Amino acid sequence: MKIEKKYHFYAAHRNKNAGEKCGRIHGHTYDVKCFFTFTQELNEAGVTCLFSDIDAQVEPIVKGYCHWFLLYEKDPLVELLELADEPIIKLPFETSAENMSIWLFTRIKNETGLPITRIELAETKSSTVIYEPKN
Ligand SMILES: [Zn+2]
Repeated sequence: MKIEKKYHFYAAHRNKNAGEKCGRIHGHTYDVKCFFTFTQELNEAGVTCLFSDIDAQVEPIVKGYCHWFLLYEKDPLVELLELADEPIIKLPFETSAENMSIWLFTRIKNETGLPITRIELAETKSSTVIYEPKN
């Protein structure tokens, strides 16, 4: 049985090395679709896994980025913003949609133990990356 769950978060970022448009500070409503593949039988209630049980584990991870400025830890702005005591989330990679999807997938897999098999991360209404590792 496969279950799809949708989440979203709002965040600012920039990807300085990805060209002028992406290099400017800007924000997105990130839409996140998580796909879980369960192998166990349905329980007595006819349920694989309660949607609310998935939410309780995944939402804290996704919402942890909501209304934050996400920056690559090596971005020169990090030093300035820390000097100004501005709150940011530093990440160990450029904050491309591709990297963000891999990061979220890995965190959900490792921190929840839920059988996530695919993640879709949309930065805009027309642009989505899909990460679906073989195993
Ligand atoms: Zn962007």
